[in-house]
Amino acid sequence: MDRARIIFILLSVYIFAAFAWWTYAHYSNTQKIFTQKKDLLEMSCYKATFDLQGAVSQEMFNDSIDMQKFFAANYPELDLLFLDNFMPLDNFMVRPSIESYKKIEADLNRKLTMYITEGLVMMLLLFWGMVYIYKSFKKELFLKKLQNNFLLSVTHELKTPLTAMKLYMETLLKRTIHPEQIQTIAENSLNETKRLQEQVEKLLLSAQLDSKKYELDIQDVNVSELVTEHISHYNLPREEKDRIFTEIEEQLIVKADASAIEMILNNLLSNAEKYGGEHGKIKVVLKSNQNQIILQVIDEGSGISDTDKRMLFNKFYRVGDEQTRKTKGTGLGLFIAKHLVHLHKGKISVSDNQPKGTVFEIKLESNAN
Ligand code: ATP
Ligand code: MG
Repeated sequence: MDRARIIFILLSVYIFAAFAWWTYAHYSNTQKIFTQKKDLLEMSCYKATFDLQGAVSQEMFNDSIDMQKFFAANYPELDLLFLDNFMPLDNFMVRPSIESYKKIEADLNRKLTMYITEGLVMMLLLFWGMVYIYKSFKKELFLKKLQNNFLLSVTHELKTPLTAMKLYMETLLKRTIHPEQIQTIAENSLNETKRLQEQVEKLLLSAQLDSKKYELDIQDVNVSELVTEHISHYNLPREEKDRIFTEIEEQLIVKADASAIEMILNNLLSNAEKYGGEHGKIKVVLKSNQNQIILQVIDEGSGISDTDKRMLFNKFYRVGDEQTRKTKGTGLGLFIAKHLVHLHKGKISVSDNQPKGTVFEIKLESNAN
């Protein structure tokens, strides 16, 4: 892909250079033509003088008026000057008229202006076209990457629980098993089924959000209670229970869809858990500021680069290469969170935590005051 980019840049540079060269060549040719036209005009003075002298020697003119008439009819671009009032037919001078000089100059200026404006317009159009093609090209590469991510991560996320369930069923069929083991196998199978169901629901939800078919059920929600409750039930391994710290302002009410807010929080928490470094602390802050409610999920992971920050909220976007990534995920969590926040007319943003890690922040309009 990088080769295609290099070829595109080289081609663009070549087209620009060729175009600039052609414009310059036109420009300098026009100037050469101007000099040649001036030379021709000056040379035509010699021819006219020679013709007039011939005509005088053949006694074609009675007086200077006759000569002037003949001259005006045959050499409209030249001026005839009589140098001697007594013998005008023998003492005259031919020179280019000021008008003919002006005409050639005006012609030159018109052509130069034409080449410069046409050149500039064409350059701008060319530049615009190149930028447009480059952007489409980048978008195409980006979409290809997302498509690849989608195939690799989604198939993996769907295949893993299916494989586990198949194994459990095979174990049940092949071996004689104690009733308590059957219980464990059934529970594990159920967990895998739930995981599969969650993934499928996530895919369906993202499709609904994409096609704007998802509708919120807006009610007065006590976000303080909802967040506290959700965190207390958040499914962390027992030894990691003390990873999450909270700073929650009491009694913050907002008009919102409770299940949507839970989904957003759940996605941010699961990200902080997955990408916040091993046993890294996770802080959840809920506070109000003027007429806004601010929810922050802060982790101490390795952070996110500025380029990735801009891409994160795209569907199926995952940082790094899908083949080398170790964490589970489909790249849908933040896409869903972003859409749900926007449906609430709120804002979601990502920034760096100090000294390390990431802060995800959601701002919702509150109706508390
Ligand atoms: P899913 O949420 O669908 O299970 P996911 O976690 O990969 O999968 P998102 O939640 O959309 O998808 O996150 C997209 C990507 O953003 C992640 O793959 C990860 O690379 C990066 N990311 C998200 N949150 C963080 C974070 N707190 N710290 C570092 N990287 C993060
Ligand atoms: Mg996620």
